[in-house]
Amino acid sequence: MKKPKFYQLTKDERLATLVEQGHLSQTDADCLAAAEPLSDEIAGNMIENQIGQYQVPLGVVQDLLVNQQVYQVPFAIEEPSVIAAANNAAKMARANGGFVTEQLTRLMTGEVVLEKLVDLVAAKAWISGNNDHLFEVARAAHPSIVKRGGGLQKITPTIIDNRFLKLELQIDTKEAMGANIVNTICEAIAHAVQEQLGGNLLLSVLTNAAFESVVTASVTIDPATLTTATLAGETIAEKMIAASDFAKVDVARAATHNKGIMNGIDAVVLATGNDWRAIEAGVHSYAARKGAYQPLSSWEWTTDQQLRGRIELPLPVGMVGGSIGILPTVQINQRLLKVQNARELAGIIAAVGLAQNFAALKALVSDGIQKGHMALQAKSLAIAAGATETELTQLLPLLLKATHLNTATATELLAQLRAENK
Ligand code: NDP
Repeated sequence: MKKPKFYQLTKDERLATLVEQGHLSQTDADCLAAAEPLSDEIAGNMIENQIGQYQVPLGVVQDLLVNQQVYQVPFAIEEPSVIAAANNAAKMARANGGFVTEQLTRLMTGEVVLEKLVDLVAAKAWISGNNDHLFEVARAAHPSIVKRGGGLQKITPTIIDNRFLKLELQIDTKEAMGANIVNTICEAIAHAVQEQLGGNLLLSVLTNAAFESVVTASVTIDPATLTTATLAGETIAEKMIAASDFAKVDVARAATHNKGIMNGIDAVVLATGNDWRAIEAGVHSYAARKGAYQPLSSWEWTTDQQLRGRIELPLPVGMVGGSIGILPTVQINQRLLKVQNARELAGIIAAVGLAQNFAALKALVSDGIQKGHMALQAKSLAIAAGATETELTQLLPLLLKATHLNTATATELLAQLRAENK
């Protein structure tokens, strides 16, 4: 008998396979299998007014090849087709040498903004002339990040709109995403500056436009490997490039192009305990940084007729801090990923975004997006209609043949099936 594919196994068999392959320890697999909720002590202390817990399935994208290293990538996601698409893209990218990533800088930025200063130019000059003092204030505000080799790196004062004085603070937060570290330093600097310059202190806080934490990932695909039963690989590649070009001139398309990318990115960000709102805010502000909202990735021909995709986006993710040390599943996910540091994690996430984009564009320009989606959507509808595991096998083929794939059809077909099975 043919060996079943990973996705055809039961959850427990999948966990056993990951243990067998050395990706998960038995203890971690047992924890995932038990799917224990957070204790009231943890959940109740994490947020205000806690009244329950909210479940999202956790899946895995297998063997994503990034910088010549193979990763098992945890995805926390409720949308049915995302993992299947990423797996498909991961397989194709692996056959073509995998993803290559790069991150030149990894700094977070904070803003301190004052207004109603008597002399804006003199105030700006004071900042530039008193860097040593302000660096000392920053060190004293967060000595532990300095001990870890991080802390304030640069202060840039700018006059904006002939009204505001903005201090941009570049801060190395090491392995943390760093929002709280940055805010602590910003507030200390703000206090010191206002004490000297007076005026009105408006705000001192991190900006989520983390443009000093930009990561790129690229992949080069031999178009022959894209060939399907009905379409030549070159034709698919040509259309993927055209679809990517279209996203550059049509905001309506760019938004969906980027949403597809974020399907994978948010899933890994969530699974690794990172702040997905921060990532979303940063990514979309980066997409709009030149004025017009742009796609985060682009596809083109190389000089030797290969299909090359490249993604560029800010990914200020952390390995420590926030809820990372609190949520047990996040720690299991870090071990499953076998990721060593925040830069490596950001590279994997960028590659996931490009993989997701590859899968979406390829499906769009060949079979259309619904073909792959519908099988999975049918499953969700059947489950929502109340089908049991055994009923699913009978109900899904009927549902996929139905003219209207919706809840009413699923409920009706399930009722018919139950009547027949009586
Ligand atoms: P934390 O406040 O948890 O700070 C991280 C801490 O981890 C550091 O203070 C440091 O403490 C400790 N740490 C241990 N090892 C390291 C290491 N190798 N490198 C760096 N730090 C280390 O988290 P963040 O400052 O990262 O802030 C993230 C949180 O802030 C998230 O929960 C996010 O949702 C939230 N947030 C986000 C905002 C936004 O995005 N706009 C705004 C406000 C909050 P020590 O050195 O003392 O051991």
